[in-house]
Amino acid sequence: MNLLAVDALDVRHGLLQAVRAVSFNIERGETIALVGANGAGKTTLLRAIAGAHAATGGRVSFNGADVTHMPAHSRVAQGIALVPEGRRLFAKMSVEENLMLARAAGRPGAWTIDAVMEAFPNLKARRNARAGTLSGGEQQATAIGRALMTNPELLMLDEVSLGLSPLAVDRVYASLQTLLNSGTTIVLVEQDLTRALRVAGRVICMLEGRIALEGKAADLTREQVTQAYFGLNKTGAGAAA
Ligand code: ATP
Repeated sequence: MNLLAVDALDVRHGLLQAVRAVSFNIERGETIALVGANGAGKTTLLRAIAGAHAATGGRVSFNGADVTHMPAHSRVAQGIALVPEGRRLFAKMSVEENLMLARAAGRPGAWTIDAVMEAFPNLKARRNARAGTLSGGEQQATAIGRALMTNPELLMLDEVSLGLSPLAVDRVYASLQTLLNSGTTIVLVEQDLTRALRVAGRVICMLEGRIALEGKAADLTREQVTQAYFGLNKTGAGAAA
């Protein structure tokens, strides 16, 4: 059974249909890179899977159960976690307090504050610092740590590199590698195609709300993904819908 099944999902922002009949499955342990130009619908898709934005059509199933109309907090308890674009930490609370808040929302499991500190060593010295005083990289690590504290089965990360220095991005990805190696199922929105193809097992490219290309990272060239990204290969091999 698939961990996640998305079937003909439609999501709107008012009159604008941001996600159009999107279907795909994710198996347990997979790492998916979700790529596409600005406005392609990636954030809206992740938010709909997490329950932060209501779908207007289609179905989301998690572990075989229909969660399409389940509220976001219940989906967290089922094992779906989203690290949102922009991190959204409580700026006046400490790193530890931000992490503690998440624990109550999630599932029981192995992730503790100490385990997050081991996964993100740059947070150790900042444990009691207010989140608002952290560097971008430290904030991103805290946001990922907060999601991990819910012991997710599916971890979705929206543009973890955004606004970070190259060094901070490398640090975040080094920590993510530990998660990837541990078999956590991950969906990663990443603008850097080279990095996306390197990290992910499978790539899904969105264009104007639809899936323009989907395939194993090892079978795709950077050129194929770039063409799908800009809508240049609608008739080419591997293109969908
Ligand atoms: P980005 O990389 O810029 O975050 P994205 O692929 O994540 O892009 P979305 O943010 O999901 O794309 O946006 C999809 C479409 O929905 C775009 O046309 C965008 O302008 C529109 N949109 C996104 N958020 C809202 C909103 N809150 N209200 C109205 N329209 C929105």
